[in-house]
Formats: sequence, structure tokens, C-alpha cells
Amino acid sequence: MLKYFIYCRKSSEEEERQILSIEAQLQELRDYAKQNDLLVMKEFTESRTAKEPGRPIFNQMLSEMEKGNASGILAWNPDRLARNSIDGGKVIYLVDEGKIQALKFPTFWFDTTPQGKFMLSVAFGQAKYYTDNLRENILRGIRQKLRRGQLPAKAPVGYFNEPRLRTIEPDKATFKKMKKILELFAIGNHTLTQIRDEMFSLGLVSKTGEPLHLASLHGILSNPFYYGMFMFKGELQQGSHKPMISKKLFDKIQSALYNNGKPRKKKIKEELIFKNFAVCGICGYKITGERHIKKSGLVFTYYRCTKKSKVKKCTNAFLPEAGLANQITNACQKVSIPDEWRDKYLERISEWEQEQHNSSGIFAQNLKDKLTEIKNKIDRLSDGYLEGAFELKEYHDIKNTFLAEKKGLEEKLDDFERKGNHWLELLKSWIIDANQAGNLANTKNFLAMRNFLRTVGSNRILLDKKLQLDFPKPYDLLWNLPDYARAESEGKGAENSKNEKWWT
Ligand SMILES: [Zn+2]
Repeated sequence: MLKYFIYCRKSSEEEERQILSIEAQLQELRDYAKQNDLLVMKEFTESRTAKEPGRPIFNQMLSEMEKGNASGILAWNPDRLARNSIDGGKVIYLVDEGKIQALKFPTFWFDTTPQGKFMLSVAFGQAKYYTDNLRENILRGIRQKLRRGQLPAKAPVGYFNEPRLRTIEPDKATFKKMKKILELFAIGNHTLTQIRDEMFSLGLVSKTGEPLHLASLHGILSNPFYYGMFMFKGELQQGSHKPMISKKLFDKIQSALYNNGKPRKKKIKEELIFKNFAVCGICGYKITGERHIKKSGLVFTYYRCTKKSKVKKCTNAFLPEAGLANQITNACQKVSIPDEWRDKYLERISEWEQEQHNSSGIFAQNLKDKLTEIKNKIDRLSDGYLEGAFELKEYHDIKNTFLAEKKGLEEKLDDFERKGNHWLELLKSWIIDANQAGNLANTKNFLAMRNFLRTVGSNRILLDKKLQLDFPKPYDLLWNLPDYARAESEGKGAENSKNEKWWT
């Protein structure tokens, strides 16, 4: 009885999409073998194209046939066995040699007669013709496009593939934006990352809607397509599409790209320091910062609502960084204590501390005296009870009153000794902090001012370009101090009467 091998193949390539899956081929062939009483020794499956010779499993199967392990092949169609002349020739040669005695295909009739061999070679030839034809058609299309000056590929950013005429045309939505980006980069003072971010803000993004990879950005910036040429298989071709920029500008971009690759002397990445400093006065979401680079190279930074609310569209105004910085400076100045006030107040506090030190001695002594007195009372009460002056019930009631009083006095004394002049310490540190806020404002230390207001101010809201915030005690006194009071007292120093009034 003749021994058979089953061979199934399906490549992942586009033109084989219509072919049965390997699993389905296998099932069909097993059924076919059963119906026709074929003895199957082994099943070979392979997911590879048959356009090129050198399929390992196919070769392994043929070498096993040469050894005589089987002398028949069962496959779905001749084109599963070969689509190139070498593999097709090999199969026919093995048939001529008698190593292959039978080839069975559910879709194709074959026997080892001269007609059969002729039909097989036609079938292999057909499979090869199909492949060649496909390849030739594609190549012909490409050659035609190249002759017409059309890039035979996907249109670069700023253009689109016109489906009807099969040309590449400027894309209304992105052409001008992309041109702006190229002109911006040509200036030479932007990093690829800055350009990438700028593109992102203009909506020039990757297929998935994310910012472009820097590598693809590099490819875009060095694409000759933008000045009217294009590169195909390493050769520069004259394009027939509308150029976006001049060759001169393209050359500028190339030198900017070259300089970009060199290490930079200074690369200060300025932080958006007021990001998340406040919340939106309309929807309550955080305020974020954004930075844009103008054509002139000027950097423009502003703060706006993150607009995370899905419920309502936020219309809160954008606020340029300078405007926000000004208001933050003003807030710090407003809750600050001028140097003269500070000195005056600290002097006053140290007087109070001295007074308190003196009076606290008296206060503590007073408490201690009272304690001694109550202890004596309790002792005398016990004596009286022992001498029979009180009933037990009466004795207990009076004693409990005395004990409660004693406990109260002890707690007071304890409290006093522990806290001491705590509130004066608090006042002192507040005066120093508040004075420092003014110094931060004067030296334009925005980072420190931000941190100060974050610690001290609450309910920080940005609404219609105005920063609103609340201050807790005692900052609220300064915050709500009328401007004239401050102006006058700053002018005349701490001796000012209004200032004095406020102080008390
Ligand atoms: Zn908002």
C-alpha cells in the first residue's frame, strides 16, 4: 500500500487571505484520505509563502520522500506545494525519478501519466504566473508613479493620498500647520521635543493621536518631499506634487537638525511652576499650564482650566503667566509685614515676654498657694470626721468637693507650666513668616512665593483671570487691612496711629 504525507501551507500574506486556514486544509485532507483509503504516515504544516524557494518543512518532507519514507503527497491544491520554478521543478523531478508515485489534491486531478505530469507543470506554472503577475503589476504601478513624479507611498504629514486620481495633494487641515512647524524649526533654537509638543498642540499627532516619536519627527524634518522631491529606494526623484517649502528653507532645517544633535551648552527646562496652584472657578478642576513657542522664538506661557468636566463645557478665561505671577506677588505683599512693623512688633513681643516671665512667677505661686490651702482643708476635714464632728455621708460630700477643686488647680498649674508663653512664640514666628513673604515678593522668588501661598492660603481659585484666595487667622487681618492703612503706615513707619490701632 502506498504511503502518503499530508502537506498544508498558508502564508500570512495579503493575497492568501482567501485560502483555507491550515487547520481547515488539514481537516479536509484527513477526510479525503479516509474516503479514498489512503495511508497517511505524517502531516506537515507550514505558514510560509511559496513564492521563494527554501521552505524548511517542505524541504524536509521532500528529503524524507527521497529516503523512501513515503511516495505520495496529499495537498489541497498544487499551489500549496509550489509557487516558484525551483520547488515546482523539484516535485516534477521526483515524479520522473519515481520517488513520488502519487500526488492527490481534492481540487485537482493528477496521475503519473505524461498528460498528468504536463497538467501538473501547468498548475505549478499557473501558480508561478499568478505570483509573477502580481509582482509585475505592483512594479508596473510603481514605475508608472515614479515616471509621473508621484511618491508611491503614504503621503507625509500635511498631504493626503487622493484616492481617485492616486496623486498626493495638500491637506487643507494640516498643510499650513505643518508649514508653520517647518519654518519654526528652521530658526534653529528649538529642540525636537519642543517642536513635537508644538505639533501636538496644533493637532499634528501620530495615527493613535499621541505625540509623535522623536525618531519619526526627525524623519519628517529631513523628508525632501516638502520641497518638491522625494526619496525612493535611496534615489532622489523629482516630484510632481505641490512643494510646501523652498529648498533653501529645507537646507536651513537640515543644519538646524545637525546642530540639534550636538550637546547643548545649557538646557534649562523651565517648570510650569503655577501648575495645579489653583482650581478653576467655574468647574472646580485644577489649573494647568501650557507653553507655546512663537515663530519669533518667544516663549508664551499661560494657565488655564484642565477642562476635565464632561458635564459642562468650561469657559474660564486663559491667564498669561505674567498676570498670574503679578497677582501672586500682590497677594504675598498684601499679607506681608513691612520691616519697620516687624522690628516694632518683635520689640513689643520681647517686652511682653519679660512681663509674662515676671507675672507667670506670681501666677504659678498663686496656684501653688491655693493647692496647699485645699490640701490643708482636706486634712482638717479628716480630723473633724475622726473626732466625730461629721456624719460619714456629710464627710464624703464635702471631701469630694475639695478633691474636685484640688484636681482643677493641679491641671491649671500643669497646663501653665507646659504651655508657658506658647502663644507669644506663635505670634513671633508668624511675624517673621509674614515679613519674609514681603521679601520673597521683592526678590521675585516665585517658587518660594508659590510654596508660601500653598501653605498659608486656602481655597485658591482662578476665575476670569483673577486669583482668589482665603487666609486663615492671623493672616486674614493683614489680607483685609484696607490699602490706605497700609500705605499710610508704611509711609510713616510703625508709629502710625492706625497701625497702632490695628496692632492692639
Ligand atoms: Zn473650568
